Amino acid sequence: MALELNDFSLDLFSLDGKVAIVTGANTGLGQGFAVGLAKAGADLFLVTRGDNYHETKELVENAGRRAVVFQADLADRSNIKEIVAKCMEVFGKIDILVNNAGTIRRSPILEFKEEDWDAVMNVNLDAAYFLSQEVAKVMAEQRSGKIINIASMLSFQGGKFIPPYTASKHGIAGLTKAFANELAEYGIQINAIAPGYVETNNTAPIRADEKRSAEILGRIPAGQWAKPADLMGAVVFLASRASDYVNGHVLAVDGGWLAR
Ligand code: NAP
Repeated sequence: MALELNDFSLDLFSLDGKVAIVTGANTGLGQGFAVGLAKAGADLFLVTRGDNYHETKELVENAGRRAVVFQADLADRSNIKEIVAKCMEVFGKIDILVNNAGTIRRSPILEFKEEDWDAVMNVNLDAAYFLSQEVAKVMAEQRSGKIINIASMLSFQGGKFIPPYTASKHGIAGLTKAFANELAEYGIQINAIAPGYVETNNTAPIRADEKRSAEILGRIPAGQWAKPADLMGAVVFLASRASDYVNGHVLAVDGGWLAR
């Protein structure tokens, strides 16, 4: 793993010949991650819940890579093993997993409904944990692999009206470290990306709220919301050999938000 000076070249960032699973790949950040990985050379196993995956599939194929779609509701734990089995059947290996799928429910904490707590935790934390565990078994056999979890500013802060989202994203940061500690010996690195505020469906309600939107924008040193493409460089880095000595890290890509 350790590199000598002469080993370094931009080839270390290439994902040629790699196979990547991305969950929630039909839209938003997941679409950006899938396209970024494809542009860096990886073939994609796209996990989506609905049948609105055509745009992502086309973008991956336009980048010259294979795109295999698997439809699954990640809130249903019984789908997890099937995702891994199907990817292995099609590609015979898994080099990269991006646990991107996520959901959010907003309500004051005193009124927060049990079913909303469960809905968020099931996808944001439980699915990421169980899918990582299944994929890690394959990667441990391969003695290599990269797992990239999608954290949040809410992995560091408390927020308001989104208690399970905050709990799940703090949990994601913890899982990232727990997996990294145990799996380093198999040549697997587990890191997380914590996006700042990104223009996706997830943030549509707060962007539509003029007051809240202005407050957020006023706090971002970069002076603008991110777009999914702003996260592509980070995912390619963490998926590539260039990051082999980075493990258990939560990388904020936030336009400077956490520095305020
Ligand atoms: P998004 O546009 O709402 O995308 C969420 C993705 O997760 C969609 O593909 C969605 O599928 C999928 N998903 C949700 N529940 C699912 C389920 N039960 N089974 C399978 N797939 C499911 O939001 P996004 O902003 O791109 O979010 C992607 C990730 O980034 C999430 O983990 C989110 O927490 C995180 N994040 C976002 C921001 C931000 O500012 N946008 C900031 C920090 C972190 P459908 O389209 O079928 O619903």
